[in-house]
Amino acid sequence: MARSLAAPGSGGRSARSFRRVTSAVDAVCALAADAEATTLDDVVAAVAAVRDKPIEIVSAQLGPGVCGQRRHYPDRDVIVLANRLPFRNHTLAHELGHIVFNHAGAPAREVTLEASDDLIAYMLSQRGFAKVVDDGADELAEWEAETFAGMLALRLGIYGGRGVSIAVLRFDEALG
Ligand SMILES: [Zn+2]
Repeated sequence: MARSLAAPGSGGRSARSFRRVTSAVDAVCALAADAEATTLDDVVAAVAAVRDKPIEIVSAQLGPGVCGQRRHYPDRDVIVLANRLPFRNHTLAHELGHIVFNHAGAPAREVTLEASDDLIAYMLSQRGFAKVVDDGADELAEWEAETFAGMLALRLGIYGGRGVSIAVLRFDEALG
């Protein structure tokens, strides 16, 4: 299939664009409906099928405060989610956003803003480090991935670990 996932003009941007994120969410929701996805994992599989490159989802013990990682390989992408993640779907959607937008960048440490006092304390302590890592385009990439995750959750009806609401997908589809 030759459906474009990301909005055009992905090179050389520097501005935040809700329109670009909305386009990507629209495309992913259409795919999800076509694939009759019932979970976010199904949605990820549907995206992988269209781009003709597998996306593996694995769980692993990650460092303190690290919720997810994205690892690039020539033949596949791997999303690594921390064990016992309180907001698994959100982190998964965030990582999917990076993949959909084809964000460059080292498959470095990923921290999403959730969770415990411990995590917040950790992040505050790491702020100097994080700033060095998250400069320039990376900051835009994080904003896009995070906005994508939020919009996708709203559109798919993913709240608190529940699955994708097919009724919502069908409704969106009906509206065209
Ligand atoms: Zn990220």
